[in-house]
Amino acid sequence: MRCSEAKQALAAQRDGRLAQSDITTLQEHLEQCPACRAYEQRLQCLNTLLLSQTPRSFSSISTERILLAVQHQKHITQQIKDIQTQQQSRMARMRVIGLPLAAIAFFTLGSIPLLLLALTIVQPDWLVNMLSLLGDIVDVLIVLTQYLQAGLMFITRDNRLLLGVAFVLVVMMGMWLRLMRHPQEV
Ligand SMILES: [Zn+2]
Repeated sequence: MRCSEAKQALAAQRDGRLAQSDITTLQEHLEQCPACRAYEQRLQCLNTLLLSQTPRSFSSISTERILLAVQHQKHITQQIKDIQTQQQSRMARMRVIGLPLAAIAFFTLGSIPLLLLALTIVQPDWLVNMLSLLGDIVDVLIVLTQYLQAGLMFITRDNRLLLGVAFVLVVMMGMWLRLMRHPQEV
């Protein structure tokens, strides 16, 4: 028996369609030929990987491919299920934490107007003081705005002063430009 014949015989044996006499010849060749022994072992390894331990014959390569694809699909389905379970548990945890937080926030926000109402009933003076303080702040802001306006009016009314301010601005602009351009020249 030649090596190519032995390989064919091995494939036939795997499929369970090898005659008893051929099996004997194949065994004899395998005992003599290390290359075919290695081939047989590789074939067995492949079969063990592709199929479970149960001795089961399959006729064509497409069966192996289908089995592999089915196993792959099962694996992917399992992964998706795992992810879904993780997500669900995370959602459940969020709900457990989120509900008390929402309740606390709701009560805090709801108690502010109630507190103000209670304060106005118990201490009406406090509210009046607060309002007058706010009025004072607004007054200060108005006075500041008036001062600013007066200053602007003063500058714009005096032409010489306006000219001076413009001159200073131009000089500062020129200095700034010179400083900015200086590193490029060097
Ligand atoms: Zn051989």
